[in-house]
Amino acid sequence: SSGPAETMIGGLNEPQREAVLTTEGPVLMLAGAGTGKTAALTTRLAHLVRERLAWPSEILCVTFTNRAAREMRERVGHMIGPAVEGMPWLGTFHSVAAKMLRRHAELVGLQSNYTIIDTDDQLRLLKQLIVAENVDEKRFPAKQLAGCIDRWKNRGLNPGDLDAGENEAYANGKGRKFYQLYQDRLKAVNACDFGDLLLHMLNILRTHRDVLDQYQQRFKYVMVDEYQDTNQVQYLWLRLIAQGRQNICVVGDDDQSIYSWRGAEVANILRFEKDFPGAKVIKLEQNYRSTPQILAAASGLIDENTQRLGKTLWTTRHAGDKVRVIGVWDGPEEARRIGEDIERLEREGAPLDQIAILVRAQYQTREFEDRFISIGLKYRIVGGFRFYERAEIRDALAYLRVIAQPQDDLAFERIYNAPKRGLGAKALEALHTLARRQNIPMTRAAIEIADTDELPARPRNTFLALMRDFARWRDLSATEKPSDLLRTVMDECGYTDALQAEKSAEATGRLENLAELARAMEEYDTLGEFLEHVSLVMDNEKSADDEKVTIMTMHAAKGLEFDNVFLPGWEEGVFPSQRALDEGGLASLEEERRLAYVAITRARRKCTIVHAANRRIYGQWNSSIPSRFIAELPEEHVDSETTLSGGASLWRAQWSEHGDPFAEVARTQPSRIVTRGPGWQRAAAKEFDTKPKRVAESTRSAASFAAKPRGDISVGDRVFHEKFGYGAVAAQEGNKLEIDFEHSGRKRVIDSFVKPA
Ligand code: ATP
Ligand code: MG
Repeated sequence: SSGPAETMIGGLNEPQREAVLTTEGPVLMLAGAGTGKTAALTTRLAHLVRERLAWPSEILCVTFTNRAAREMRERVGHMIGPAVEGMPWLGTFHSVAAKMLRRHAELVGLQSNYTIIDTDDQLRLLKQLIVAENVDEKRFPAKQLAGCIDRWKNRGLNPGDLDAGENEAYANGKGRKFYQLYQDRLKAVNACDFGDLLLHMLNILRTHRDVLDQYQQRFKYVMVDEYQDTNQVQYLWLRLIAQGRQNICVVGDDDQSIYSWRGAEVANILRFEKDFPGAKVIKLEQNYRSTPQILAAASGLIDENTQRLGKTLWTTRHAGDKVRVIGVWDGPEEARRIGEDIERLEREGAPLDQIAILVRAQYQTREFEDRFISIGLKYRIVGGFRFYERAEIRDALAYLRVIAQPQDDLAFERIYNAPKRGLGAKALEALHTLARRQNIPMTRAAIEIADTDELPARPRNTFLALMRDFARWRDLSATEKPSDLLRTVMDECGYTDALQAEKSAEATGRLENLAELARAMEEYDTLGEFLEHVSLVMDNEKSADDEKVTIMTMHAAKGLEFDNVFLPGWEEGVFPSQRALDEGGLASLEEERRLAYVAITRARRKCTIVHAANRRIYGQWNSSIPSRFIAELPEEHVDSETTLSGGASLWRAQWSEHGDPFAEVARTQPSRIVTRGPGWQRAAAKEFDTKPKRVAESTRSAASFAAKPRGDISVGDRVFHEKFGYGAVAAQEGNKLEIDFEHSGRKRVIDSFVKPA
């Protein structure tokens, strides 16, 4: 028969065709980037259905991201038509496992309508358990426990499987206990977390032979893309299911393993031949994606890794440009340069959706977003929020908004309890009521309510202390630079500490984002100017999907391809990341190098690497060293077209021409240089201590605004209060009343809360 699927097979090369046609028995397709692994896997899927070797519902096909699953579904759809609708088992590990677990939930003590909780719920639950067990959550944060539990689940470990070492990982030997408590609690509320989806299914398959049989029978074929990034629990789960018929085809590239921090194990590739004896190993060597120059540069780089299987890649594609390495002066120039290049590409007819900027860390997107908005270049952030939409950035902005604009209730509601300061929904509700009745902003209500009994003493005092802080910050905003103000506020309100206590990779990312926000603010002299800038930026781009430049992390770009790829920030400490350098081990550095390999091999036609000589970090200029990965690129395939040029001597020349950037800035903008040694926070705190009077005054002035008494109530009147009941007015001062309540004694309340009785 000949149809689209056959046409597709006809277009494949010999080893790809072999992978498609070897339908029976285990197959391991191990090949470098862009060699058509995913293309072969997709065709294989279509082939199985077209040749009626299996019904669509009898094929299990796992991809790494929902996006990859969607793309595969589309492509298979082109080849087999509507039959693709009947493929419930094409998806990510999590989506497939969740579907299975629904059918067998009762076997692990859940009902089939169990809820899958998100990270927020997970943390709240863990926190409750930690508090209930009298463990100091400050010393042993819930985030840390959550990290441990995720790791255990990724490795397929139940509480009973933890060894002594693992048990020590949280709260001096309470790891197992808390893990067990957590699992029990989840069961009690008929819920599970993401990690449980796979772990529960693994447990079920291990202990219920009949269920295992059922799936081993059902799935005539099992296929996995991006196999190098499977973790232990995924691997064990797959192995059980595929063990029956042994028709399993996995494709991967050891050089693209970039998720070991999430528990992925390259060793799973090496184990495959052992677990599935007689596996056919297929190597693909022809790269269809990139120009010879891009391919050679990437291959030369990854050759530096010692821990790899090693492979050859070649292409028949026509020669293109060499990989460009551009040195620029600083971050803003980097964004300007890339913006100009993209505009030029656009003029030459390049579609914007074939252009990508791949960054190492989320915080790097900000500089590009600001630049692109100002030149009107359309962009989209994939796999993450746009910079100003991230939670921690919104929190920080909310603080600044309340400082600039005490009437900003929305901003206040966002941060009144962020970081957690023990103020609940009830406390907020009381403020709301007061604010509404008196027609005053909530920040004012927070002060007003302090001299009343409308709330218990704790929240009242907390509100008052917070408003005192705000008053102080407001004073400070008149004199401090906005960026310094931000740092002070985030430190003093406890936000920075709370993130630091989490000790998680995610929290580190949030801290980096906040540092980046401070960096963005350096350019503004007043808080008002900065906030206006942000509101303009945030309002921009709500339009649908026209063509846009893609900005995303290198991790999120796995499996994708673009004509033009820009790779900014190739400097030591940015890429390879500071964390990888700090950990120091060969393994973490080699994982960064694999990430570099993934990044370069996303490019089809042009790849541009950029590094800046200077980065501003915490208000201070730092000169940066070009990434070692640049030096590792084979010279003959690289064009160092630079404004600064790559070599150390040219850096030096540049240095003498511009002068020490630190000195230069110090001369022209003395207020911008803030040298912060380790003691700067303490120094800052001391500075506040010297002005206690001013602080007290400003708080009082905020508190004692003239509130008129209402005309219909005076001393001696009988009144009714919703919470305290009936009573007689004993004293009246402005809008505040003291009332002797019949049941609850004397209380201070606000007159809008009572009515004449
Ligand atoms: P990665 O390792 O980055 O995931 P991959 O090995 O999965 O890469 P694919 O994405 O499948 O590679 O293919 C890379 C490009 O090569 C795609 O544009 C694909 O359409 C094209 N391609 C794959 N096989 C062939 C072929 N036999 N002939 C022509 N083009 C091909
Ligand atoms: Mg692929």
